[in-house]
Amino acid sequence: MELTVALTLDFHPTGRHFLQIPGPSPVPDRILRAMSLPTIDHRGPEFALLGLKVLADTQRIFQTRHPVVIYPASGTGAWEAALSNVCSPGDAVLMFETGHFASLWQKMALRLGLQPEFLAQAGMEHGVPVSWRRGVQADMIEARLSADKAHKIKAVCVVHNETSTGVTSNIAAVRKAIDAAKHPALLLVDSISGLASADYRHDEWGVDVTVSGSQKGLMLPPGMSFNAVSPKAIEVAKHATLPKAFWAWDEIIEINKGGYWPYTPNTNLLYGLSEACDMILNPAHGGLAAVFARHQRWAGGVRAAVRAWGLPIQCADPAVYSPVLTGVLLPEGVDADAVRRLIYERFDCSLGTGLGKLKGRMFRIGHLGDCNDLTLMGALAGCEMGLKLSGVKLADSGVQAAMDFFASHAVPVPLARAA
Ligand SMILES: *Cc1c(COP(=O)(O)O)cnc(C)c1O
Repeated sequence: MELTVALTLDFHPTGRHFLQIPGPSPVPDRILRAMSLPTIDHRGPEFALLGLKVLADTQRIFQTRHPVVIYPASGTGAWEAALSNVCSPGDAVLMFETGHFASLWQKMALRLGLQPEFLAQAGMEHGVPVSWRRGVQADMIEARLSADKAHKIKAVCVVHNETSTGVTSNIAAVRKAIDAAKHPALLLVDSISGLASADYRHDEWGVDVTVSGSQKGLMLPPGMSFNAVSPKAIEVAKHATLPKAFWAWDEIIEINKGGYWPYTPNTNLLYGLSEACDMILNPAHGGLAAVFARHQRWAGGVRAAVRAWGLPIQCADPAVYSPVLTGVLLPEGVDADAVRRLIYERFDCSLGTGLGKLKGRMFRIGHLGDCNDLTLMGALAGCEMGLKLSGVKLADSGVQAAMDFFASHAVPVPLARAA
């Protein structure tokens, strides 16, 4: 029997596929080339240099002076690592429903034998839950922690950039809420899709564990994930009793001191990570500050398009618009997945689907990592044509609005061409 795999390349033989989902994001050629180097001995002397370099570089990206643990696993693995290192069976953890990824994390906590309490804002809007259109409400966390006089809650777990909705959360405000309640709970944050796109400061914001992944802002293929850990989290992990072996921080952090891992790390992804860090941190290109400013500007252009179409942006609070992706709510009765399919088939552009409670109601436009004004204009043109072909009534041209936005908002830092 002959097995055939239908690749997008077979379908559209020329040009590039527009991978406009909020992760995996397009991998720059420079990173693909770096990853194509021969795999080396992970116990040899060259490897230690690579290991020490990527560990130091990733600390700069998380903005931390403390250890960053790198796993050969998807982001979900790093969630499990975070919970298994600091929790004991039956521990209460406080989570906040901001969307599909917050909900999956809560499900995982249940499967691990924890007792998650899931806070959410009540109500519906445009036929979708209010809490899936806004960020974490720090005042609700403060009220709940203040009521927990016995300090039963061991951790507060929130998502920094909710990829299912296009809403960020104010992590510094969550830290302030925990401190205002004088509560000892650890702060665990999922910044799988926020890191290296949206401003993120592990140390300054007092985060105990930051979970992240390779395939979003870091512009790498999937398969690598991270835990940035505070000294307090490392201390708690010494006494926490959920089973942990592969995920255990202590052994990895010890062996990382020499640039090695206790097991075989994904060497070629580490080559890619090294290259990605060079690109992101390059001072000639403005470093992290320029990366964040670029994403904010792209998001501004995409929102200008959505507003011109006359469609609601999924995020209802302008203070927490995501710089990484924009969710577009379609009129009730329109199947958003049918629109997405048409855009994929006609224009070779992949958009993010509506996840969980948003299924069929919206699509997501990713604007992260290796993109620029003109690739975004192409993606927006695909959206506009697809919406029109699907019979969705548009108020005006979003493409024109985005062109006006990009033309009138200069690039924040002049971009020298990468070598
Ligand atoms: C992508 C993503 C995940 C899941 O990561 P995987 O690599 O698919 O396991 C979790 N949380 C958020 C916010 C994400 O964007």
